[in-house]
Amino acid sequence: MSNAEAEGSIPSNAAVAVRNLHKRFGALEVLKGISLTAREGDVVSIIGASGSGKSTFLRCINLLEIPSEGRLWVSGEEVHLKPGKDGNLVPAQPRQVEHIRARLGMVFQSFNLWAHLTVLQNVIEGPVHVLKMPRAEAVVRAEVLLQKVGLYEKRHQYPSFLSGGQQQRAGIARALAMDPKVILFDEPTSALDPELVGEVLRVIRTLADEGRTMLLVTHEMSFARDVSSHVVYLHQGLVEEEGPPQQIFGAPISARCRQFVLGSI
Ligand code: ADP
Ligand code: MG
Repeated sequence: MSNAEAEGSIPSNAAVAVRNLHKRFGALEVLKGISLTAREGDVVSIIGASGSGKSTFLRCINLLEIPSEGRLWVSGEEVHLKPGKDGNLVPAQPRQVEHIRARLGMVFQSFNLWAHLTVLQNVIEGPVHVLKMPRAEAVVRAEVLLQKVGLYEKRHQYPSFLSGGQQQRAGIARALAMDPKVILFDEPTSALDPELVGEVLRVIRTLADEGRTMLLVTHEMSFARDVSSHVVYLHQGLVEEEGPPQQIFGAPISARCRQFVLGSI
């Protein structure tokens, strides 16, 4: 990291930048000072043992959790945080939170589709209600996205009639419908039966090939090696090692990282 980055200025093409990010839950410090930059077009994979803070880190980026300390930028705009009453930070401008979240798509392990809405209705929900897009336009766009993830034929089905892989592809279409600058994936294939993992990874691969900026928490090591421009290994709330996939998976410097990667293949 250059001195300028350490001081808090960020590269002009940073899609997401965090500096010295901490997150505490009471006495438990889960994130202990993370700095990371994802430039436009980067695919950054975040790996690490269960409990190392990967989900909390993604949740801090999209402000589902508010960091306790540190600075955060999303597509060049700094998120304004101020000291709150309990020693944690709070958003200084609540309206900015909505605005920042609208730039970030999130895909969860557990799909999180609305059970009472069809696939198509799930995908148009955000554009119609959050972006205030005319419904007819949202439907046309959703149909294109559902074609892209291979679910056009299933568009009038309810989620419970779909396989896990189909539900997750619907989740990806729903994230894309908001036209996010960055997509955050939190273990998108961990809840899937092994035979359904490939169809979801293929969709993510397509997005990477299109130059989409993505942060991906995953245990799929060979996929991370193949798709990432940069890999970050978290250990107990700190970046233990980061670098290009060839380094992390081929010749890691940290013994702990080497052990984790070898144990995960
Ligand atoms: P990972 O995704 O790497 O498995 P998490 O970010 O989910 O790790 O969790 C890291 C640690 O933070 C765990 O010890 C977890 O119990 C704790 N944690 C996460 N969210 C909360 C919360 N809302 N309140 C208290 N502890 C939490
Ligand atoms: Mg997690």
